[in-house]
Order: sequence, then C-alpha cells, then structure tokens
Amino acid sequence: MTPLPLALSDSFGRRIEYLRISLTDRCNLRCVYCMPAEGVPYEELDNVLSFDEIEQVVRALASAGLKKVRLTGGEPLVRKNTPELAARLTAIPGIQEVTLTSNGILLARDAQALWDAGIRRVNISMDTLQEERFVKLARREEFARAWQGLETALAVGFSPIKLNCVLMRSINDDEIEAFGHLTIERPISVRFLEYMPIGQVSNAQWRAQYVSNEEAVATLKNLWPNLETLNDSPESTSRNFKIPGALGTVGVINPISHKFCDGCNRLRLTANGKLVPCLADNFEYDLMAPLRAGCTESEILAHAATALSHKPIQSDFEGRLARGGSLRTMSQIGG
Ligand code: SAM
Ligand code: SF4
Repeated sequence: MTPLPLALSDSFGRRIEYLRISLTDRCNLRCVYCMPAEGVPYEELDNVLSFDEIEQVVRALASAGLKKVRLTGGEPLVRKNTPELAARLTAIPGIQEVTLTSNGILLARDAQALWDAGIRRVNISMDTLQEERFVKLARREEFARAWQGLETALAVGFSPIKLNCVLMRSINDDEIEAFGHLTIERPISVRFLEYMPIGQVSNAQWRAQYVSNEEAVATLKNLWPNLETLNDSPESTSRNFKIPGALGTVGVINPISHKFCDGCNRLRLTANGKLVPCLADNFEYDLMAPLRAGCTESEILAHAATALSHKPIQSDFEGRLARGGSLRTMSQIGG
C-alpha cells in the first residue's frame, strides 16, 4: 500500500481538496445524455455507502487537506435524509463547504432543510426552458416541479444559483438566447456544459450532438456584442460573462475543448464505494470492502493515496471512446 500522505495529492503534485460524493445511483429523470430510456440496473441498497461510512471517509480525507464536498448522484435528493448527511459533513473540522447538484425536482421540499444543514450553494441542472422539450430531454413530465425547485432555492437564499445546461446539437442549441435572457431577469449563473461521451453513446452519435463552448461563446457575443468577460478565479472550471445590465451571469464549462486538468483538485466517490480519480478514465478503486472490513481513518487515507496514484495527467474522453467507451453512466459515477 502507498505510504500515508500528510496532504492528499496525486503523482503530478496536484493537491486534492474537493470530493464529489454520489449519494445514490437512482434518479427520478432519464436525461438522454446521461441514462438510457429504460434506466440502468440499480445497485442493491446493501451495496450503497451508509451515512456513517460516508462521514468516516470525509473525516479521514479532511485530516489530509480535503476542504470541499459536493453531494451528487443519480439524484441526491431521492436518497432519504440527504439534509441530515449534509449537516454531519458541514460539521467535520477542515470542511469549508458542502454543496449540492440536483435536477431541482425535490428542491421545493428540501431547500430549507438543506439551508438549515449549512449548504449555501446549489447547482441545478436544467437543459431547456420549454416544457414540451423537457419531457423529450428528461423523459419525465417534471418541468413544473423542477422550475418550482429553482424558484424555492432562490427564495430560500442560495447564492449564487448555478444553472447547468448541457448543450446538444439540434436538441437545445437554439436556446442560448433564451438562457441569456433568463440571466438578464434573474440572479442566476447559467453555465453551458459540453456534452461528454459517458455511458452508452457511440462515437458517431456523440460527435453529431457535441456543441463546443467556443460555438456557444460566439453565439453569445453575436447576440450581445458588449458581453463583459468576468475575472474568474484561477481554479475555476468555467469561463464567465455578463450581459450588460443583467442580474445574473452566463458561462461555459468545457471539459472537452479546453481541458482544465492542470488545476484539477478533485476526486469522486461513487454510491457503491469506489474512488474515481478521473471522469474520463474507467479506473476505479474499491473502498467499500476495506470500509466494511473495519479499516481505520489512516488506512482510508492510504487507500485514497493508492487510488490517486492512478489519476492521469490529462483527461482523454475521446481516447476512451475509441477504446470502447465508459463502463458506467454519469448517473452511476456521480456528475
Ligand atoms: N441528478 C443531478 C443533476 O442532474 O443535477 C446530479 C447528477 S448529474 C449526473 C450531474 C451533472 O452531470 C448534471 O448537471 C448533468 O447535466 C451532467 N451530465 C450528465 N451526463 C452528462 C454528459 N454526458 N455530458 C455532460 N454533462 C453531463
Ligand atoms: Fe438524473 Fe441528473 Fe442523470 Fe438527469 S443528469 S438522468 S437528473 S442523474
């Protein structure tokens, strides 16, 4: 086993300070870019990390420099008592921030409890502002509840609210203008994400539907020639802009066209207890078995160090696609 680290870092000296935890592989939507229509076989609940196990992992990693945790999934709010876990994680010494990524459907129910648990930032995924299109894209009639979740999150006071939209050719790439207008009227940070080839997608289908963020920025600049470029922090994975006079901002996240691997400080933990050092790589390291065998926090750190020794210097989604693609869907990894 790799020697015990004082600070979590990978083989290339990148410090790991950010853990994205998938609380469940289950979801109440079936977004076309994430899951097949028929869904994917769910993990047995016995094979999903308990709140105690998640807390033990975060405590161990926080002792070696972990600062930030994001709760994700699947849909993190379909797991029972997610706010209770959030409260337990925000209380861990060293953890500066716990955030959440959600499709919004259950946010009207949970936003206040999440706020009370200490969460201050939520990302909401919404790929269209059109109800009929939502049904095609997410394969569920849930637009109204998702929108209500966004409104509730705004009312409760989460700030900034980031709204993530995966742009896809001929599916929603005609809505850049509508999302831009949303940022004029509401204090929301819209971010267009590049479609990543994860899960069951062929090379041809992915290429046909991929829209580069260069194209999204060009469209925005064409629509609003005075678009202001904002000063993003060096570790930011997004490039952000403001339409003059807007209450919110609009930005792009480009995992494919502009790799942001140099500053990558993240590690993922799947609902079934695997550590995933890179989203673009199929390598995963099992932490469930050692946890269930009663390992100590020092041993968790040593396992994390071993997993991180496999973190590649640079992501290579296209290389993986050429070699047969990813073994899991995004809902199974945790986005
Ligand atoms: N269910 C929650 C949600 O949708 O926000 C959390 C999990 S979801 C897997 C996290 C994020 O991954 C969402 O913003 C979703 O749009 C994004 N995502 C899923 N599959 C993707 C893909 N193939 N390419 C780009 N983003 C993807
Ligand atoms: Fe569910 Fe999120 Fe995947 Fe959509 S993107 S199917 S909401 S996990």
